[in-house]
Amino acid sequence: MRLSRYFLPVLKEDPKEAQIVSHRYMLRAGMIKQQSAGIYSWLPLGLRVLSRIQQIVNEEQIRAGHVPVLMPTLQSADLWRESGRYDAYGPEMLRIKDRHDREMLYGPTNEEMITDMFRAHVSSYKQLPLTLYQIQWKFRDEMRPRFGVMRGREFLMKDGYNFDLTKDDALHAYNRHMVSYLRTYERMGLTAIPMRADSGPIGGEDTHEFLVLAQTGESEVFYDARVTDLKLGDRAVDYEDRAAVKAVCDEFTTLYARTDETHDEGIFADVPEEHRMVARGIEVGQIFYFGTKYSEAMGATVVSPEGKQVPVEMGSHGIGVSRLLGAIIEASHDDKGIIWPEGVTPFPVGIVNLKQGDAGTDAACDALYKGLATKGLEALYDDRDERAGAKFATMDLIGLPWRITVGPRGLANGVVEVTSRRSGVSEEMSAEAAIAKIA
Ligand code: ATP
Ligand code: MG
Ligand code: MG
Ligand code: MG
Repeated sequence: MRLSRYFLPVLKEDPKEAQIVSHRYMLRAGMIKQQSAGIYSWLPLGLRVLSRIQQIVNEEQIRAGHVPVLMPTLQSADLWRESGRYDAYGPEMLRIKDRHDREMLYGPTNEEMITDMFRAHVSSYKQLPLTLYQIQWKFRDEMRPRFGVMRGREFLMKDGYNFDLTKDDALHAYNRHMVSYLRTYERMGLTAIPMRADSGPIGGEDTHEFLVLAQTGESEVFYDARVTDLKLGDRAVDYEDRAAVKAVCDEFTTLYARTDETHDEGIFADVPEEHRMVARGIEVGQIFYFGTKYSEAMGATVVSPEGKQVPVEMGSHGIGVSRLLGAIIEASHDDKGIIWPEGVTPFPVGIVNLKQGDAGTDAACDALYKGLATKGLEALYDDRDERAGAKFATMDLIGLPWRITVGPRGLANGVVEVTSRRSGVSEEMSAEAAIAKIA
């Protein structure tokens, strides 16, 4: 992509409305534009990152054996009356009437609708286990939308729902989600700690939230410092192997880690003092096991192997897809801008042309751009007629992992300069070597 033909409305000044660094950088880097409180347009750079995050979420859900679907954002109020949540949900629910005066709502979550889909099409235990998920916009009329995409009113969520015959099967689904989430966050360069939490209005027994540690986080968290050393890495986990999946969950949930809702000073006191941590965190996901709460209320039953009608065992599992952009930036930035982890970067590399309009430099940049493309690397090429300083500032702000700087002086010696955004270290090398280094 040539910057001269792109749409990257970078801001020079810090926007006044942004109180935290991720919101500030997302606005300054031209990633989002607020349309009304808690409601955003996604500009091209922001959309690229959002798409990368969705892709990782999809890949890890499919790897875990979960099946993608897509449900509408607008739902009928009648469905929510069946579960009793239409009245219970309160003012966070955006209620709408259509032209026939029928009551609708913009879905804040989808337990009712997915249960309705399930009961329409599944009737036997032989069709289980089944986990369906979607990535879809949600609306919650938050009392205080703030921090940009971190607490929006309209926001993108991955929500998945498991349907199982027995509680054991449903707990395996719960564990599968935990492992797939750990892998998902790690691929985004994040450490997200599963913490025992409270189930709130979804209801249910077992629940963990996944928290990214950050001073700007809205949750108070209490944990054993050693949980932050745990890594899933690229170990292969067979999602069909219950014991193996459970072993990973045990590894990640044995050390003390709780949000303020479930925090217990008595148990926390047993953590060795030097490991006892009190901090703040950003909730980037949550998993629930709630059994037959919705299936009983809505008549979602299957015929069991014994020939009886039994309500299906369920859980629901969410990832804050749009909130993750904010969380990643909170976790990875410096005073010049964002530092994208390789897994989610909008472009893998940027090219800075130091002398736009100089035939030799322009030709070298074009060749480099094409050379990167043949390796599957789409560069963002700053081909604007701008000062070097302005080009560098833009690259630092938008945070691509690599910058290749091309100027007449280096070209005279047959070299370009390759700079790592994270370490700040620059090296000179031939264009071919630069492409090989980044690929
Ligand atoms: P919070 O405690 O932050 O209000 P929640 O517990 O109400 O979140 P869940 O119902 O667990 O949210 O939804 C799943 C995920 O969706 C959350 O873990 C979070 O990452 C994301 N999410 C929830 N509300 C918002 C919001 N207003 N804006 C952006 N993401 C959100
Ligand atoms: Mg909430
Ligand atoms: Mg919460
Ligand atoms: Mg939650």
